[in-house]
Amino acid sequence: MTTSANAAGSDAVLTQEQQAALLPGEVIERLRAGNERYVAGSLTSRNHLAQLPAAVSGQYPMAAVVSCVDSRVPVESIFDCGIGDLFVARVAGNFVNVDILGSLEFACHVSGSKVIVVLGHESCGAVKSAIDGVELGNITEMLSKITRAVDAAETTGERASGNADFVAAVTEANVRNTIERIRTESPILAEMESDGQIQIVGAVYELRTGNVAFID
Ligand SMILES: [Zn+2]
Repeated sequence: MTTSANAAGSDAVLTQEQQAALLPGEVIERLRAGNERYVAGSLTSRNHLAQLPAAVSGQYPMAAVVSCVDSRVPVESIFDCGIGDLFVARVAGNFVNVDILGSLEFACHVSGSKVIVVLGHESCGAVKSAIDGVELGNITEMLSKITRAVDAAETTGERASGNADFVAAVTEANVRNTIERIRTESPILAEMESDGQIQIVGAVYELRTGNVAFID
């Protein structure tokens, strides 16, 4: 037997039946277990070439992840996932807008994913820039989406990007803010969550260890 994060095995791809049989809590446990393998340096060996044909006719991913664009956060790898396992929406600062909300509704309501993970990460440049009030081109408008988290985060130290504790507090506040926005701005996803069809969870990725710490 394989120890793959998905239900299909290292050279297979999740099927509609396998996806339908997964409960949201089971998907979260698979993601946790996959991250434990990543941290332990024991990623599943995948034959992507062998997986390709099975993925052509459809996709039945178990989860959707809202991540920062940061190159140090290889989303599939940190959960030991492969082709057909995850939808991944990426934007600097891992917030949501109408397009990403639509993508998440597609992932869960249309395509059957059971979990949404809002994934922040340590030492996020977007978070730091929002704290510092950086203004540059389209980055100004983008960072305005994180301002609320900057205002909400608490610290006993300096409210500056040089204060790693404050950056971490803003990062967590931003994840919570994104989850709140999903629930308030997507009635479809809010109803799916209240009905137990999906779970929406937050997490923060630690650059130095590779650990994903789930919030709550
Ligand atoms: Zn980032």
